[in-house]
Order: sequence, then C-alpha cells, then structure tokens
Amino acid sequence: MPYSVSPIGFVRSCFKEKFAIPRQPQLAPAARGVLELLAPFDNGDAVQGLEQVSHVWLLFLFHQALEDKPRLKVRPPRLGGNQSVGVFSTRATHRPNGIGQSVVKLDKVEAGKLWLSGIDLLDGTPVLDIKPYVPYADNVATAYNRIADSAPLLIKVTWQDQALAQAHSHGQRLDEPLVELIDQCLAQDPRPAYQQPGPERRYGARFWDVDVHWHYPRSDTICVLEIVPAD
Ligand code: SAM
Repeated sequence: MPYSVSPIGFVRSCFKEKFAIPRQPQLAPAARGVLELLAPFDNGDAVQGLEQVSHVWLLFLFHQALEDKPRLKVRPPRLGGNQSVGVFSTRATHRPNGIGQSVVKLDKVEAGKLWLSGIDLLDGTPVLDIKPYVPYADNVATAYNRIADSAPLLIKVTWQDQALAQAHSHGQRLDEPLVELIDQCLAQDPRPAYQQPGPERRYGARFWDVDVHWHYPRSDTICVLEIVPAD
C-alpha cells in the first residue's frame, strides 16, 4: 500500500537557485531563512518547548530534484563528479523519495514561524517534519565517513571595491549579513569540479533579491565583481 506524506510548512530561504548553495548545512552560518508552518501546525502549541533547543533536524523534499526512476549509483561532487558510488552512501539530492535532512540553527521561534540559519535549502523547499537535535544521541564521537571525512577545502574569496560597497548597501537594506553570506558560500567553490574556467568566464547566483557575479582570476581564487538587483 502506498504511503503519502504532506508538508508541514515551506522554507523562505536566502537561496533562490540551487547553484552556490553549500552542499551541507552549517557551512554558511550567514545563510538564513524562515520556516513558515501550515495549519494546523501554525498554532503555537506545535512549537511549544522548541525555545529550549539550539538546533533542529529538518526532513524535507528535494522538490527541484524529484525523479520518476530512482538511481542506484550517483557521482557526488565530493568525489570530483567522476566517480560513482551507491546512492545510499551519499547525501545526493537524486534519491528514492527525494528526502533530504539538515541540522540547522534555530535562532527564534514564534507561532507558525521558525527563524533558521546555517541552512542548505532552496527557497520554497517543502518541509515534512522538524525534530530537535539531541546532542547526546546525534553527536557520535566515534563516527567516521571515509568518503567525506572533513569539510570541503575553502577557496580564497576577494572583492572588487564596488562589489563590496554594493553588498554592504544591499545587506543593510535587507537587514541581512549579505557580505558574510556571499563570502561563506563562494568560499565553498560552487563550480563543478571538472570546470577549470579562464578569467574571462563569468559566474552568477541569486541570493535574496540580488544577483552576485564573480570570476576566477586564478584557479584557486574567486573575485566578486558586482552585486545587482535581480530582475
Ligand atoms: N543536508 C541535506 C542532506 O544531506 O540531505 C542536503 C544535502 S544536498 C547535497 C545539498 C544541495 O541540495 C544543495 O547544495 C542544493 O543545491 C540542493 N538543494 C537544496 N534544496 C533543494 C531542493 N528543495 N530541491 C532540490 N535541490 C535542493
């Protein structure tokens, strides 16, 4: 018998497209969003007690990566995108049932709304459940993962003067740590591992309501070129 699940809410996120979202939560602490709960969970009773919790697990749907035919093997970016491994040994978005899970910081709780940071979720992501992080059970001191044993190496991020001024001013307007958000996300080096772009190639991604453009003056450095209002 098939089972069905329904979202308990949707995330309003700083990330408006998949490109340049960190590949796991906690990698960009300045990545913020609000989980807006649907009825009947928008009643304060449903979140009562959560103010005593610093982090929560979100179980959600990769709604922009759902596929009819499940893959058995995937090529995770972590392995350079050219080595395939079993889908269950990765956190790939293309997976049976399209379910994702992230530990995120809970900054503020009110009836119907949870303010979150350190997220890796696209705007509009449907959330299926929320569970409190339980440090004594969820933090496994002896755990290892030989495919992904430590956080990805960071790339150097530099700014053109005008881009930094634009980011400061849009950050003030949005009341968001936009400079930090861009720094933290681009330091993850969003380009696919196989791309070795020349300095003439421009990249872009949308954060909140602005488009960020950058290039690679050298293969180990990003330079942020401009921040412009999204159309
Ligand atoms: N922490 C989660 C997990 O382990 O299940 C997600 C890991 S997944 C590798 C992270 C990537 O999922 C992000 O970089 C972003 O590109 C993508 N993503 C985030 N939200 C999504 C959504 N709603 N639909 C499709 N892809 C999404």
